[in-house]
Amino acid sequence: MLLDSLGRKHDYLRISLTDQCNLRCLYCMPNEYMEFMPNNHLMQAQEIFEIAKIFVEQGINKIRLTGGEPLLRKDFPDIISLLAKLPIQLTLTTNGILIDKYLSQLVEAGITSVNLSLDTLQAVKFTQITKRKGFEKVWRAIHLLLQESRHVKINMVAMKSKNLDEILDFIALTIKLPLHIRFIEFMPFTGNAWEQSQVVTHHEILDLVRTKFEFSKLIDEPNDTSKKYQVKGAQGTFAIISTMSEPFCSSCNRLRLTADGKIKNCLFSVEESNLLERFRKGQDILPIIKQSVWEKKAQQGGQFPKNYQDTVPEKITNRSMISIGG
Ligand code: SAM
Ligand code: SF4
Repeated sequence: MLLDSLGRKHDYLRISLTDQCNLRCLYCMPNEYMEFMPNNHLMQAQEIFEIAKIFVEQGINKIRLTGGEPLLRKDFPDIISLLAKLPIQLTLTTNGILIDKYLSQLVEAGITSVNLSLDTLQAVKFTQITKRKGFEKVWRAIHLLLQESRHVKINMVAMKSKNLDEILDFIALTIKLPLHIRFIEFMPFTGNAWEQSQVVTHHEILDLVRTKFEFSKLIDEPNDTSKKYQVKGAQGTFAIISTMSEPFCSSCNRLRLTADGKIKNCLFSVEESNLLERFRKGQDILPIIKQSVWEKKAQQGGQFPKNYQDTVPEKITNRSMISIGG
């Protein structure tokens, strides 16, 4: 079992497959020039499988593939067919652009739930936020996944100056479609020009939804990072991930593996331990995994002030979100 010094049990691993992406979301991809990881620094399909197996033997029962954009990996079908052999729930976070290409493989590998990122329902705004065209593709991807009866969660990073005016439109979507919208509070990472004034908090979202819809609170799972709600009579649900205004670290069960094979015990951890380097030398990586988990800080990598409004982004040591794996 992977326990930290505070008694938290870790059974959920997020594996980043790449730091490359076919979009350039302004809250994720740094503005300045970014040097991507060379291919030989990335975990290869068999390495991902072998390393994941070690985690699974220690009690990991859920693995989420992420990135960068995980579907950009040419060997994505090999990776999921290998991981599908493990006794885990296998899931994926994607921007949806390439879903049509891999849909049958996703279904075959038993991926029943997919998180798809979409911050706006307006094609022009999509291009402003992601700096690429692609709204229609993503919209089609959502429908393809629904046709295949996948559980579809939509991740929407709420930002005051970008998409606050669309929160009610996203809520309306949950009424007519079985979609599960998750509003994510905007988080600071290296190079993403975070400003506290851009954060739309859990309470602000609820206050807004109340102006137009009647909704109720749903029961959250013990390790859920989101607080779930449902509009009366809706097919889908909505939830809020309140990392900034109300962190949920006390029940955290998540670990991360970067595309270059480093374990991060928290999204905001300063420390990383290189598992891939040791694995390639034939060394036992389990002691390093256990030590990393044990040393996990109580909250947000020990880097944030009590009130998120006091956060000074320049003082946070981390990678950019795209190179961590969200
Ligand atoms: N490319 C995939 C995608 O966009 O879904 C997977 C990787 S992306 C880094 C994973 C998730 O992190 C996305 O839902 C994205 O919206 C979220 N994310 C990225 N930067 C963020 C930020 N600064 N604050 C909050 N969420 C962020
Ligand atoms: Fe790419 Fe996803 Fe980051 Fe957008 S959020 S730049 S799609 S990795």
